Amino acid sequence: MTDAPLIDPFARAITYLRVSVTDRCDFRCVYCMSENMTFLPKKDLLTLEELDRMCSTFVQLGVQKLRITGGEPLVRRGIMTFFNAMTRHLEAGTLKELTLTTNGSQLDRFAADLHAAGVRRVNVSLDTLDDKKFADITRWGRLAQVIKGIDAAQKAGLRVKINAVALKGFNEDELFTITEWCAQRDMDLTWIEVMPMGDIGNEDRLDQYWPLRDLRASLAQRYTLTDLTERTGGPARYVQLQETGQKIGFITPLTHNFCESCNRVRLTCTGELFMCLGQEDVADLRAPLRNYPKDNAALVAAIRAAIERKPKGHDFDYSRQTVDGRVSRHMSHTGG
Ligand code: SAM
Ligand code: SF4
Repeated sequence: MTDAPLIDPFARAITYLRVSVTDRCDFRCVYCMSENMTFLPKKDLLTLEELDRMCSTFVQLGVQKLRITGGEPLVRRGIMTFFNAMTRHLEAGTLKELTLTTNGSQLDRFAADLHAAGVRRVNVSLDTLDDKKFADITRWGRLAQVIKGIDAAQKAGLRVKINAVALKGFNEDELFTITEWCAQRDMDLTWIEVMPMGDIGNEDRLDQYWPLRDLRASLAQRYTLTDLTERTGGPARYVQLQETGQKIGFITPLTHNFCESCNRVRLTCTGELFMCLGQEDVADLRAPLRNYPKDNAALVAAIRAAIERKPKGHDFDYSRQTVDGRVSRHMSHTGG
């Protein structure tokens, strides 16, 4: 049974939920986390059963796409129990897509199980194809492990998309290498503009800011780019490279060019709902969930009240080259 769908005050239907299932990670990417992170106590996290109830309620309210993220979703203990629980919504046809964003370190172990659970696509974050640079940017990651994970994912029948954060002076020189590598492996590629999130290395981050319009101009020197009109309701815009046939995405979250079609909300691993990535307004969904273990009425009411407050647009601002527009959360908290 589907209840009345979630429609926000700007007539946008909310059909896409991103869910962070942990704040922990086996990497320490420099733009995302500090090396010494203090993670949340376990009691604050939604249990796997609570995650199931929460996501199932959203599906009942019309959410058709779930993207599982983190932290690193595949380091959450028992996470396959949750994926397997979501399979019933795929089978019922109420959920159209179950997917995840991962750093790929655990994919070797989980790819076949994820496919069996009904996952068909994964986003793997990878900023460089150089072993040394990979170890530098992720601090704790090893490139070979991630490549093994991507191999396993493709072998299991998962479609892989690579997400790369565009960093001036870091992977600028790999633009064509990464593009060709993705083309050879039949993987789409999306470049993400670095965001002023969290409280670490802001000066560095502004230094490393590589505007995607510059990246796109460099791509156009070698390839013929055709703009694709397709939109996903998210911040990505796509072009097709005529020479390779491949689709390249650009995510520029700092510009206001996608808010009007925004169809998504984000749930943190503690059950807070962020209605907009760029704003601080948040709704606590854990209390109504925990306080009424057998009855979803309070939870549904809290979700509806939150969607009523979804803002028209977000507040990032790089325009004065300061960090004023940043919000103080880490990406690992809201799940990117
Ligand atoms: N651990 C998983 C991963 O790395 O794919 C999922 C969570 S991670 C927070 C989600 C995405 O956010 C990754 O693609 C990562 O590169 C991106 N990200 C993290 N910090 C960022 C920042 N400051 N600016 C832009 N993207 C960022
Ligand atoms: Fe971990 Fe992903 Fe953040 Fe890197 S970007 S530290 S892999 S959560």
